[in-house]
Amino acid sequence: MDKKIAFVGLGNMGAPMAENLVRAGLDLTVYDRVAEAVAKLSAAGAKAAENIGAAVKGAEIVITMLPGDEAVRRVYLGESGVLVHAKTGALLIDCSTINAQTAREVAVAAQERGFRMIDAPVSGGTAGAAAATLTFISGGAAEDIDAARPVLEKMGKKIFRAGESGAGQAAKICNNMLLAVMMIGTSEALNLGAASGLDPKVLSEIMLQSSGRNWVLEVYNPVSGVMENVPAARGYTGGFGTDLMVKDLGIAMETAETTEAATPLGAYALDLYRRHSAAGNGTLDFSSILKLIESQKLARLG
Ligand code: NAD
Repeated sequence: MDKKIAFVGLGNMGAPMAENLVRAGLDLTVYDRVAEAVAKLSAAGAKAAENIGAAVKGAEIVITMLPGDEAVRRVYLGESGVLVHAKTGALLIDCSTINAQTAREVAVAAQERGFRMIDAPVSGGTAGAAAATLTFISGGAAEDIDAARPVLEKMGKKIFRAGESGAGQAAKICNNMLLAVMMIGTSEALNLGAASGLDPKVLSEIMLQSSGRNWVLEVYNPVSGVMENVPAARGYTGGFGTDLMVKDLGIAMETAETTEAATPLGAYALDLYRRHSAAGNGTLDFSSILKLIESQKLARLG
């Protein structure tokens, strides 16, 4: 593929995703507001841009991987944003996890100015980003998602179309609410096991072969020393930040309110992750919620 591609947002996820595009030999220009992030990608072979305008100039495909709604609005709709500087007709792919409503608003603004846009949030974590095994959960016109496939396939394995614009975000947020609850449930079980004198490695193996089996036990164990190459093995750094999980659960609760869907465990999970963040753990990986559970006694957790 000889298309000119721009990539904006080179954080824990964006950097390894962009690296995979460079490795695949694509013509890539990158930008992040953090200069060191741009320098790192430039050393890996990407062209460095000094602002969004320079990054997207002449690009046929623009990919963004930003923290949340505010950043996505600013990068696309801002005075010096993508919609002002990108070439008309370009395919815009937002991989950030944001509110479906925001995704639809930005996509409508993009379409009004002659762009094609899809939402394509991802699942698979930083390990999936590095290994190019992400799952893309996309929303938008089927032909636009098909047009994005060749480039998404360089960063991931599965590409789902959940429905029209915003549907990718809606599906992603359901998944992450479940993940948040599953991480707390798994941490609780492992903490109860440790309190009962069980070895967390042995208990994890048992539950992996029993009805408690889940993704957290398979690839993201929260207890340090049980698995290699997970955030728990490196002091809960370099993964999916607690504050990002708080953001996603906030979106889930907003969605629950507007749709009147009951989400009692999602609401309690948000409360626990918020407390964990308020105690100074916002930038640590969300699996560090185990520490909150370990530090509390039954009566105090409430
Ligand atoms: P991150 O905070 O590590 O990276 C975000 C990057 O965006 C940063 O480098 C930041 O400097 C850059 N940025 C922010 N505003 C910008 C602006 N206006 N212009 C240019 N750059 C800007 O976050 P992350 O962990 O890479 O996550 C990115 C998105 O992917 C989030 O929406 C998150 O919810 C989602 N996500 C993360 C994971 C994970 O495991 N980390 C997994 C799935 C989905």
